[in-house]
Amino acid sequence: MLYEYTLSAQREDFYNITPKVREAVTKSGVSAGVAVVFCPHTTAGITINENADPDVVHDLLIGLDKAFPDRAEFRHGEGNSSAHLKASAMGSSATVIVENGKLLLGTWQGIYFCEFDPPRNRKFYVKIIGN
Ligand code: ZN
Repeated sequence: MLYEYTLSAQREDFYNITPKVREAVTKSGVSAGVAVVFCPHTTAGITINENADPDVVHDLLIGLDKAFPDRAEFRHGEGNSSAHLKASAMGSSATVIVENGKLLLGTWQGIYFCEFDPPRNRKFYVKIIGN
């Protein structure tokens, strides 16, 4: 089953989409399989990281800014190469095992939609494959 979700991303941030992915698993009725979360954008990504301490996301955003600053030698005319670099660093998808009808995430893990070129109206897909 394929599910599409929309997201109004007003600022550069990591948006916790774990509840939406859990909802897709429940709707699918799949008890054992995988959930694939996919972002169809080039300046946003998907990643799994800590969902307990919000300072982790804060620090990830600072770290990505330091790792991928805007550079004078960039050529891309849209002027958002830093956002493209961050998106590729995060990747455009995440795969999570579904077992007993639940996502097999670690206690401290959440699934994040990563916005790097706000404000944008975004979407992401959740594909549930299994029995
Ligand atoms: Zn661009």
